[in-house]
This record gives sequence, structure tokens and C-alpha cells, in this order.
Amino acid sequence: MEILDGKKISNQIKEEITVEVAQMKERGEKVPHLAAVLVGNDGASLTYVGSKVRSCKKIGFESTLIHLPEETTEEDLLKQVHQLNNDPAIDGYIVQLPLPKHIDEEKVLMAVDPDKDVDGFHPTNFGKMALDMETFISATPFGIMELLKRYNVDTEGKHTVVIGRSHIVGRPISILMSQKGKPGNSTVTLAHSRTKNLKELTLQADIVISALGVPRFLKADMVKEGVTIIDVGITRVADDTKEKGYYITGDVDFDYVSKKASFITPVPGGVGPMTIAMLLKNTLLARERHNN
Ligand code: NAD
Repeated sequence: MEILDGKKISNQIKEEITVEVAQMKERGEKVPHLAAVLVGNDGASLTYVGSKVRSCKKIGFESTLIHLPEETTEEDLLKQVHQLNNDPAIDGYIVQLPLPKHIDEEKVLMAVDPDKDVDGFHPTNFGKMALDMETFISATPFGIMELLKRYNVDTEGKHTVVIGRSHIVGRPISILMSQKGKPGNSTVTLAHSRTKNLKELTLQADIVISALGVPRFLKADMVKEGVTIIDVGITRVADDTKEKGYYITGDVDFDYVSKKASFITPVPGGVGPMTIAMLLKNTLLARERHNN
């Protein structure tokens, strides 16, 4: 069994980007600038955005955090989005999800300029991804593909079962795994909450990508020997014995499933860190595209 070490690979990617940014500086070029918009004070969102901004600083990017109060109106948020679209200093930006209930998420994401949409959530970018065109691939599926690539995991002709059909993970990774290329060329089954006999499907899988958000959902008796496991789930489980009052766990019953797996991602330290690295990669791409 080999651990797909997202922490290690994400550090490699960040080092590669750091070198490119230093070269940009030497050439007297503008360095990439990522902005993040956060509405409200959701604990997990604050952690994610904080870590994205810190990562920018470490690798030499410029970054701007726009933290708006919970009661921000949809209209004001849309104004902020238009401002970012029109600000030539900003290469890319993200609007951290989830947004407060009174704001229409779809409306906001549709307002983001696709050329600055480093999260790859805009329909233009999602559509281009589905058609194998140059685009911004959303950071989590992009991170999974990069991890498979760097560990040389063979995906061609393999049966991949994706669990979860969200627009940000399950749906796009199912498309990417079936695309022509390496990684890719996989035969994909996309399972979701209405899927019947999931265990029958996962038992046939050479690769399982789990993105449903139910702690330790995927058990050892649901997978075959030699399977590759990508665990996207991140759930905070309340635990008074921990300093923070919770611990983080994935969708996979790691201790037992890992015994049968040939490759497996841990949680934490698997897909999570890759997501941040690929957001930075997309911001670098945005800068390069704006230069050309
Ligand atoms: P979501 O929460 O929007 O949707 C969950 C999906 O799981 C749905 O499509 C649903 O149909 C499916 N599902 C639910 N119960 C099921 C069941 N019993 N059997 C089969 N399918 C079932 O999904 P999301 O936003 O992709 O998040 C999924 C998990 O991934 C969460 O834990 C989230 O925190 C995590 N996540 C991690 C990263 C990362 O960087 N590692 C990024 C995004 C999301």
C-alpha cells in the first residue's frame, strides 16, 4: 500500500510556483495577485480562506482578503464582484462558499469574470473543461488529477466509481477521469444518494473517488483488493478531548480500507492540501494568460 501524500506533492507544486514567481520578479513582471471574498464568519470558511491567503504570501503572490459581514446584501456582494472583475491588479479571485442563505450563490458565481474565475466554477469554464479546452479546472478535481499523475497511478481502462455528484467535486472529476489522456481513459460510474446497490458497484471498482461527506462511510467490505482510494471527504467530528473540540475525518474507514488498497489518500494530508496548491496554480495560469 502506498500513501498518496498530498501534503508532500502540494509542497513540491508550491516550490515550483515559488521559482516561477521569483523569475517573474527578476524580469520585472507583475506577480500573480489572488483575492478572496468571504461573507460572514463560518468557522471552516475562515480556516480555508486564511490558509489560502497565507499560502499566497509564502510563495510570493500578492493577496487580498475581502471580509464582508454576514448581513451583506446580494446587491452589495455583486457590486464587489464587479469591482474585482474590473480591477486590473487582480489576476484571479474566489468567492468562498457557502454564502449566507439570503444570497443567491448561482447569481454571484455567474457574475464572476470567467478569465478571473480561478475556482473554475463559472459555466464557461466548466463547459470548457468538459470539452477538453484550455480553462481553469476547479481546484479539487484538478488536485486529484495531479496527485494521480505524479504518483503514476494507472487509470487507463480502469473502472472508476465516483461517489457524490456535486458541481465542485463529483461531477467534474467524473468527466476528467473519462477524458482522453493521462490520467483519464477510465470507465466511470457516477454514484449518488439515489444509487441502488452502491456496494455492488464499489466492489467492481479499480479506483474509488469518494466525495459525499459522511465520516467513514466507505468500509473495507465495500472494496476489492488492490483498489486505489481517493478520499475527498472532510468532516469535523465533535470531540471534547481535542483542543479544538473536534477532529477531521474523511469518507473512508482508513484503518481497514488501507489494508486492501494499493494507493490511498489520507485525511488530513491528502486531497485537502492539493486543493490549495491547484488554486495557486490556477492563479499563476491566470497571470500568464493576462500577460499574453
Ligand atoms: P455535497 O455535500 O454537495 O454533496 C454530497 C454528494 O454525496 C451528493 O451528490 C449526494 O448525492 C452524495 N451522497 C450523499 N449521501 C450518499 C450516499 N449515502 N450514497 C451515495 N451518495 C451519497 O458534496 P461536496 O461539496 O462535493 O462535498 C463532499 C465532501 O467533500 C465534504 O465532506 C466536503 O467537505 C469535502 N470537500 C473536500 C474538499 C477538499 O479540498 N478536500 C473540497 C470540496 C469538498
